[in-house]
Amino acid sequence: MSLRTRFAPSPTGPLHLGHAYSALLAHDTARAAGGTFLLRLDDLDQSRARPEWAALIESDLAWLGLTWNGPVLRQSDRLPRYRAALAALWDRGLLYPCHCSRRDIEAAASAPQEGAPLHGPDGVIYPDTCRPAQPPGGPLPEGVALRLDMTRAAAAAGLDVTPLCYQETGVADPPGPLGPDHFTRAIGDVALARRGLGASYHLAVVLDDADQSVTHVIRGADLASATPIHVLLQRLLGLPTPIYHHHRLIRDETGRRLAKRDDARAIAAYRAEGRTPADLRALVRLSPPHHLGPNTLGG
Ligand code: GLU
Repeated sequence: MSLRTRFAPSPTGPLHLGHAYSALLAHDTARAAGGTFLLRLDDLDQSRARPEWAALIESDLAWLGLTWNGPVLRQSDRLPRYRAALAALWDRGLLYPCHCSRRDIEAAASAPQEGAPLHGPDGVIYPDTCRPAQPPGGPLPEGVALRLDMTRAAAAAGLDVTPLCYQETGVADPPGPLGPDHFTRAIGDVALARRGLGASYHLAVVLDDADQSVTHVIRGADLASATPIHVLLQRLLGLPTPIYHHHRLIRDETGRRLAKRDDARAIAAYRAEGRTPADLRALVRLSPPHHLGPNTLGG
């Protein structure tokens, strides 16, 4: 199958240099391989997503010289798909409702007897406050957060027999085979649905990548630690696992990762200053596409 990749920003603010790098790398990789480049909007959090940010994203990407194949996919249009997957996991006894606020989780995880709180891909590892001894049963509840019972999920995925492996072409130390301990200790019971949002990022990204037949996920190294969650969900849901490439992050002069609030590095700010797309490629140290060699994943 030919290479299919995507860029999936959240329309919650302006794109900055880090996004430009990610989008350009994914786009150039697809084009160099004669493949497909998709644009998807991670707009599940409707309290923060704004149509004007979505419009600016498309305009910034077009200004950078990027073209994408087919219509833009919006996660907010896919809630029934996410719900069906949640129902399937619920029916297998792998989910439970969670009523903890972020503050409850931090307080429980920092109780004196717990030692220093451990952190996983989603921040403080969930201290299992709401985890039931037995799967809850009954119909899938609505409107509440739902967590994956990692002990049951690891067993259902057969991780003790067949640890989880996937291809990672970006980071220097690709993960070895991951057994149940990695998931129960270093990740914990992650949320697959958040209160008021139909699904969490982890569930949505896995279903979207599968439904869009994405063969290569090219994204920042900040998401590398979340990837085992995605590969576990693929195994649980019988979905294919793409190749992952987590690229270096673009940092400011002090070494800090760029964030949405770094307005000075917004693509729109460079555009307003009269900079060119070639200037932005130079700033992120990415050669123009016609200079790409066969190793297009070298970023
Ligand atoms: N929406 C995510 C972000 O902006 C990217 C998700 C992904 O590429 O998997 O960080």
